[in-house]
Amino acid sequence: MAPDLNTWRGQVRAWLAETLPPKSGRQDDGPVDLAVFRNVSDEEETRLLDAVRVYRRARYDAGYGALTLPVEQGGAGLPASYAMAFAQEEAAFAAPPSSELISVTTGLVGPAVAMFGTPQQRADHAQPFLRTDLLACQLFSEPGAGSDLAALGCRAVPDGEEWVIDGQKVWSSGARHAEYGLLLARTDPDAPKHKGITAFLIAMDTPGLDIRPIRQMSGGSSFNEVFLSGARVPDGLRIGEVGQGWKVATATLSFERTSSGSGTRRKGGTFDDVLGLARSLGRTGDPVVRQSLADLYVRSVLKAATAERVARAAAAGVSPGPGASIGKLLASDLLVRTGDVAADLLGSRVTADAGEPGWFAWTEHLLGAPGYRLAGGTDQIQRNVMAERVLGLPPEPRVDKDVPWSQLGRG
Ligand SMILES: Cc1cc2nc3c(=O)[nH]c(=O)nc-3n(C[C@H](O)[C@H](O)[C@H](O)COP(=O)(O)OP(=O)(O)OC[C@H]3O[C@@H](n4cnc5c(N)ncnc54)[C@H](O)[C@@H]3O)c2cc1C
Repeated sequence: MAPDLNTWRGQVRAWLAETLPPKSGRQDDGPVDLAVFRNVSDEEETRLLDAVRVYRRARYDAGYGALTLPVEQGGAGLPASYAMAFAQEEAAFAAPPSSELISVTTGLVGPAVAMFGTPQQRADHAQPFLRTDLLACQLFSEPGAGSDLAALGCRAVPDGEEWVIDGQKVWSSGARHAEYGLLLARTDPDAPKHKGITAFLIAMDTPGLDIRPIRQMSGGSSFNEVFLSGARVPDGLRIGEVGQGWKVATATLSFERTSSGSGTRRKGGTFDDVLGLARSLGRTGDPVVRQSLADLYVRSVLKAATAERVARAAAAGVSPGPGASIGKLLASDLLVRTGDVAADLLGSRVTADAGEPGWFAWTEHLLGAPGYRLAGGTDQIQRNVMAERVLGLPPEPRVDKDVPWSQLGRG
C-alpha cells in the first residue's frame, strides 16, 4: 500500500535538503540560459551529463528513481500523484540541469525495457537505464518515416542467434553520448505496416553502426544521423515478441506524452524574461508592446493551466487523452511567440552581440524554438488528433493500414 502522501512528501523534502543545495533565486546564480537546445562541445556535454548522473544515481538508490513503475519492473510502484509531488518538491532545489538524453533514458527507454523485457533484460539494461549507469537514445525516426513512423524501412533479418540490421535513422537526440539505442526495425515486410516491426536494443559501438552529428542552425549538434550497414544484434537484445514492435513504440511514446517533467532543464525564454527585456529597454509604456506582453501573458497562463490539467489527470490515473496534444501545441506555439515578441523588442540588436547582457542570448531561443513544433509529434499532427478526438471531425483517410508494407513502394 502507498504511504501517506504528506508524510512521504516530508521525507522527500528532507532527502532533497541533504542531497542538493536550495535554489537561491538570486541574480548571481549566473546568466539566464535562453537556449532551447544545449549548444555545447562534446566535452562540456559529457561533463554536464556526468553531473546529472551522480544526482540520478543517488535518487534511484534512495528509492525515488522510478516512482510510478511497478515494483516487479524495478520501480517504486507508487501512483502518479507521488511523481508530481516529487517534481514539486525538487523544484525548490538546485538539481543539476537534465538533458534530453537523460529524460529519454529514464523516462522512455528504461520503462519500455522494464515493461517488455525479459527478467535478464530488466537486470542487465532496464535497471542500469533507470539509474543512468547506461544511457540510451531513441532510434525511431527515419528520413521517410517521422509522422508516419509505422512506415519505417530499416530492416532486421534473422541469421542464427543474431539479427542483421540495415537502414538509416535520423534526428537521434544524444546518440553520440548513448551506450545503447532502442531501435525499431522491419522484420516482416509482407505484413501491414504496423504489424511487421520488431524492437531491439543495439549497442551504439556495434561494428556497422555509424553516428554522424547534424549541425543545427542554433550552432550545436545534439541530433545525429545513424547509419546501419550489416550491424549485428543478438536475439537476446530483442525487446518483446517478433512483430510486436509497434506495441513497444506506442508504449514508449505514451511515456513521452505523460512524463512528469521532473528535473528537466528549462527550454528557452519565458514571459518573465520578455517582460524583463521590455523593462530594460524602457518599452513597457508603449501601447503596442503592452498588447504583445498581455497576449503572451494570457497564453503563458493557458499553457500552464493545460499542463497542470494533464499532470493532474495522469496523477489521478486517468489518460490525459487529447489534453496532452492541446498542451503540446500550446507549449510549442508559446515558445515561438515568446521569441517573436523578444525579437520585435530588440530589432536588429538580436542579430549581433553588442555586449549588452541578455540581448544576443535571445538568438539561441529564436533559432531553437521552431524545433519544438516538430519534436514529439508536429503541430499539424496535434491538430489532427484534436480534430478527430475533440471536435469529432471525419478521420484522415488511412488507405494503407491493411496493405502489406512491401506493396507501399517504401522499400
Ligand atoms: C528536437 C527534436 C528532437 C527529436 N528527437 C528524436 C529522437 O531522439 N529520436 C527519434 O527517433 N526522432 C526524433 N525526432 C524526430 C521527430 O519525431 C520527427 O521530426 C517528427 O515526428 C516529424 O517527422 P518528420 O521530421 O519526418 O516530418 P514529416 O513527418 O515528414 O512531416 C513533414 C511535414 O508534413 C506535415 N505532416 C505529416 N503528416 C501529416 C498529416 N497526416 N497531416 C497533416 N500534416 C502532416 C508535418 O506536420 C510536417 O509539417 C526529433 C525531432 C526534433 C525536431
